[in-house]
Amino acid sequence: MTDLHFDNRFLAELPADPEDSPRTRQVHGALYSRVQPTAVSAPQLLAWSPEMAAAIGLSEAELESEDFAEVFAGNRIWPGMQPWASNYGGHQFGHWAGQLGDGRAISLGELIGADGRRHELQLKGAGKTPYSRHADGRAVLRSSLREFVCSEAMHHLGVPTTRALSLIGTGDEVVRDMFYDGHPRAEPGAIVCRVAPSFLRFGHFELPAWRNEHELLARLVDFTISRDYPEITDSPDQQRGDWFIEICERTARLIAQWMRVGFVHGVMNTDNLSILGLTIDYGPYGWLEAYDPEWTPNTTDFEGRRYAFGRQPEIGQWNLSALAGALVSLFPDQAPLHQGLKRYAEVFSAEHARLTAARFGWQQLAEDDLPLVREFHALMFDHEVDLTLAFRHLADLDLLAPALDTLAPAFYQPQRVAAEAGRWNQWLSGYARRSLADPRPASARVAAMNAINPLYVPRNYLAQLAIDAAEKGDLSVLREWMDTLRQPYRIQPGREHHAAGRPEWARQRAGCSMLSCSS
Ligand code: AMP
Ligand code: MG
Repeated sequence: MTDLHFDNRFLAELPADPEDSPRTRQVHGALYSRVQPTAVSAPQLLAWSPEMAAAIGLSEAELESEDFAEVFAGNRIWPGMQPWASNYGGHQFGHWAGQLGDGRAISLGELIGADGRRHELQLKGAGKTPYSRHADGRAVLRSSLREFVCSEAMHHLGVPTTRALSLIGTGDEVVRDMFYDGHPRAEPGAIVCRVAPSFLRFGHFELPAWRNEHELLARLVDFTISRDYPEITDSPDQQRGDWFIEICERTARLIAQWMRVGFVHGVMNTDNLSILGLTIDYGPYGWLEAYDPEWTPNTTDFEGRRYAFGRQPEIGQWNLSALAGALVSLFPDQAPLHQGLKRYAEVFSAEHARLTAARFGWQQLAEDDLPLVREFHALMFDHEVDLTLAFRHLADLDLLAPALDTLAPAFYQPQRVAAEAGRWNQWLSGYARRSLADPRPASARVAAMNAINPLYVPRNYLAQLAIDAAEKGDLSVLREWMDTLRQPYRIQPGREHHAAGRPEWARQRAGCSMLSCSS
């Protein structure tokens, strides 16, 4: 048994729903409801994150104990844990959706880990809560595995994110109609334990605002500043403005990182945006293969493409405007709200330019560089070129004699590239000329490029291969892949299959290029 210390500040300092049954209901005047996880039949630890366990202060022996699997499947709790589901609303696909809340997420507690940081432990798929509405409170193995792997991979890539401690099979089946087309199927259930300093979303602030519960909103804002933004220490009447501006800046940096690594969140509703600027809620997310700003993996969004890759920066600002709207009643002077939204655009542009320059191996992005940058993206788009592999292999070019072959691993349609080799070669010589002007020695430039252009990202089809094996009881595929994703920037001999572009069979396969919210 462990001696983790839970302080559960969210519960200690904020108002609770007086009722503690899981009965579906509207919860007014409260930020959470106490709720117990629903037990499952046969918990089995499928995977865990050693880095996360160490940060919290759990040993490997503890992780592998039967007690751990029982607790992190929701069958028992440790002393100090006080499970709750939190209350939030949100804008979904641009429309106010009212109360949503943790319909299948149950937080077990907040603790200060061995690393000295605050960690909230939250089970996803642990049973019904007052916020489950018509749904079952459960999660399937495929979506849980996808969240587990991707959130850890994002961390290793250097992108702000919620984390994952464990993935546990429940031994129970969950029925899902994957594409909502009348083909329900029973699938294995699973529970991820997610970890973050806080799981507060924009929607936590929107709900009390929409209900005119201004005092509750003010309490939540001041609590968040004091617990999660301790660096904001100026006078109380300035704090809230500085806080909003900081959220805008963090969100801008986050989305600039998504654009760098080719991540498409898939459902950027305001209930899926973290108040800490973390990637949160891994649902029908995807990774760009061929570069295409209009691409989204989410079948629910195929029509409008609101949350497609290239729209993410603009949607980030839309969501911050919704948050600003929710905070208006707390700002007699609205200048900081406007300033925050302006900062978002400025910080995103600066960060995006900085990252773009670094990806090409340049120390700065000048106005004159834009045609080269644009033409590279146009070539990738026109000829179906893998974003990750194209940038990664740029570093391998011999700048004195750049050869198109160097980029070949990135080409999904080599004959299309060959047909316009002239256009490519022109770009390559322009790129080589520009890069030779960089004052750094070649080795330093290449090392810097390889530290920002990952070789291994959690590709959609690799997730599907890990899921197919795990559903048959073989966890070796998942574990080996997770191991590779720990060092996404370092060439790992023997792991070439984790770097390879999408094979042809995965082009149109469900789970690879097409995902839904059903999970
Ligand atoms: P999501 O699209 O997963 O971000 O979820 C939107 C809302 O639906 C949130 O309030 C979730 O808690 C809730 N939800 C999604 N799936 C389930 C489920 N299987 N059971 C209960 N609530 C769910
Ligand atoms: Mg969500």
